Amino acid sequence: ANDQDHEKETLLETDRTHMWHHMSPYNPNPMIVTESQGSWITDIDGNRYFDGMSGLWCVNIGYGRQELADAAYEQMKALAYFPLTQSHVPAIHLSKKISEWLAGEYRVFFSNSGSEANEVAFKMARQYHAQRGEPGRYKFISRYRAYHGNTMGALAATGQAVRKQSYEPLAPGFKHVPPPYCYRCPYGKTYGSCNMECANAIDEMINWEGAETVAAVIMEPTITGGGVIVPPPEYLPKVREICDKHGVLLILDEVICGAGRSGRPFGHQNFGVQPDIVTMAKGITSGYLPLSATAARAEIADVFLEPGPNQHFRHLNTFGGNPAACALALRNLELIESEGLIERAEQLGHDLRSKLATLENHPNVGDIRSFGFICGIELVEDRTSKAPSAPDRVLKVISECKKRGLLIGRNGDTIPGFNNILTLAPPFSTTEEDLEFLVNVLRDVFEQL
Ligand code: PMP
Repeated sequence: ANDQDHEKETLLETDRTHMWHHMSPYNPNPMIVTESQGSWITDIDGNRYFDGMSGLWCVNIGYGRQELADAAYEQMKALAYFPLTQSHVPAIHLSKKISEWLAGEYRVFFSNSGSEANEVAFKMARQYHAQRGEPGRYKFISRYRAYHGNTMGALAATGQAVRKQSYEPLAPGFKHVPPPYCYRCPYGKTYGSCNMECANAIDEMINWEGAETVAAVIMEPTITGGGVIVPPPEYLPKVREICDKHGVLLILDEVICGAGRSGRPFGHQNFGVQPDIVTMAKGITSGYLPLSATAARAEIADVFLEPGPNQHFRHLNTFGGNPAACALALRNLELIESEGLIERAEQLGHDLRSKLATLENHPNVGDIRSFGFICGIELVEDRTSKAPSAPDRVLKVISECKKRGLLIGRNGDTIPGFNNILTLAPPFSTTEEDLEFLVNVLRDVFEQL
């Protein structure tokens, strides 16, 4: 144990000297993760943790799948790299598989991260309108609480306080409307007698800005990182209708909700809408390699083939659609399909939600929300006032869970005091026994609150 402590200390010292982490001031002593299997990871001290967040909503299929390593290895030996300025077999097959999952005719553009997939969507949307003779349509509408990525456009679309953290001026042209957050209705209404003011806000925003200036609306089917905000069933269809009325494109960010996580291939399929553009990343490779994609309806992509002022879609991309990443993603999606893991995700989501019902009456539990195999537990100081739990209490729950071998997430807004939603999105490899463990740890920690 002493050797290991020494090694760990040395590694952490090297880490502090040579690396620069996301949010580093919050975590001066990061865990050094060394191994993984199924839904569990192991740190350098040999401690095992149930990964209640699939890394960062990523490892859908679960850790340690030899088939995925083999797919990448075999592809690297045959063709490790070639840019998609030409074509290659794994990208061709993967684009077809993604189109099948989307159940419509889509053309797929590959890139490297969720943020980049969204940037590609923004560029496509603007250029699509320009190509059709409406170059004035440059604005995007998204929602408060949404997270769409870390690059300048995606950050501007993001509706969390992080965007104001010394990164201004942000890319212009991004407008925000309130989310369908029924637990804290931004209009002070109650679902059922609200007339869906939150959806109408999009219509109003488009009218106010002038439809001739609006390119697209971007949203996740369910806000995930903003605190698991699940819309009422008629919200997305209504948004689709509003977009159609104004000739505005609907971009759905499926970076988290896609790849089977929602209990359907893509999250929007739970709501019966067809998006114009779909972005995806994370779960399409289950996190084993970086890859993202932006799928556009054929009618949209094909506008770029017609003669016009703006014929070529320019997003020259060195790594996008990397052959090994594509081969791995294809294998990942095939396995998710052949092993029935999408249905499994739905079942696990139901099971988790019903087990969590035992926590519902705890005085600090304001609301429990779920979408597929994603769950959010909103912590409050008082169930009547709904005052969000103080950061200390939220952090305490997370660290007590960690002590007991359970990793969970914390989400919401990045405004201090509103990051009060515990999040769960475990791998689909999770067993009933794992779920028991997860809920028992949570119950134990809540009893001590
Ligand atoms: N969109 C959503 C909904 C996300 O959750 C994320 C990442 N958390 C992104 C986009 C950005 O993805 P990436 O970190 O791969 O750039």
